[in-house]
Amino acid sequence: MLNTIRALEQIQRIDLEIKAVHDEEKNFIEEIEKLTSEIKKEQDSFSKLSAEHEELKNAVHEIDEKIRESTERVSKDEKRLNSIKNDKELNALSKEITNANKTKKQGEQEKTSLNSKLDDKKASLDAKEACLKEKSERLVQLTNELDGKRNSWKEILVEKNTLRDSVKEGVKPEILKKYELIKTKRGGLGIVLVQKEICQGCFMHIPPQVYIQLKKGLDELMSCPHCHRILYVENQNQLEAV
Ligand SMILES: [Zn+2]
Repeated sequence: MLNTIRALEQIQRIDLEIKAVHDEEKNFIEEIEKLTSEIKKEQDSFSKLSAEHEELKNAVHEIDEKIRESTERVSKDEKRLNSIKNDKELNALSKEITNANKTKKQGEQEKTSLNSKLDDKKASLDAKEACLKEKSERLVQLTNELDGKRNSWKEILVEKNTLRDSVKEGVKPEILKKYELIKTKRGGLGIVLVQKEICQGCFMHIPPQVYIQLKKGLDELMSCPHCHRILYVENQNQLEAV
């Protein structure tokens, strides 16, 4: 039984190494997926900000046009003042100049406010662009890293599986099946060490008679009565090895 125990221990070590490779790959893929969806959101947000920025720019252009027209109107009207013939015309023209000046002033105030909004929008847009750039670069880096690692993982897995197959030869199929079943149910651990009568899989006490039997080294495998994992002790009777 000692040989079986040693073989199972080795198989479990290999299984954990294989699992570590799969976990690493899974983590990479998850991070890439997370980043890809973040980039998508950032792009949407960037497009929205960009459209808002464009709208503000157009609004500023419109105001500029309004200011230009009012300025022209004032200068034209002021020239006409010299050729005024009567009070009625003078009043009408003065009124027009006052209104045009008022429109111009309003336009300038509006422009100041719009420009400030435009500056804020530009700052948000720049920040978003920087963030997007950083995330995109990280994505390229991660994707390249994953591609590189895939080759070495493939080699590791071939090597581990070959070793596992050869170690497996020394274990009876029904015992291997039992190990596999417990391993799947118990988070990757099918065989565990007992230390000071405590199962190192579930950390519960095992009955003293089970511990004594384990120490003696019997012909059959012993299981933890709590978590059902196959148990072994470190200093099992060496003579029992067959
Ligand atoms: Zn246990």
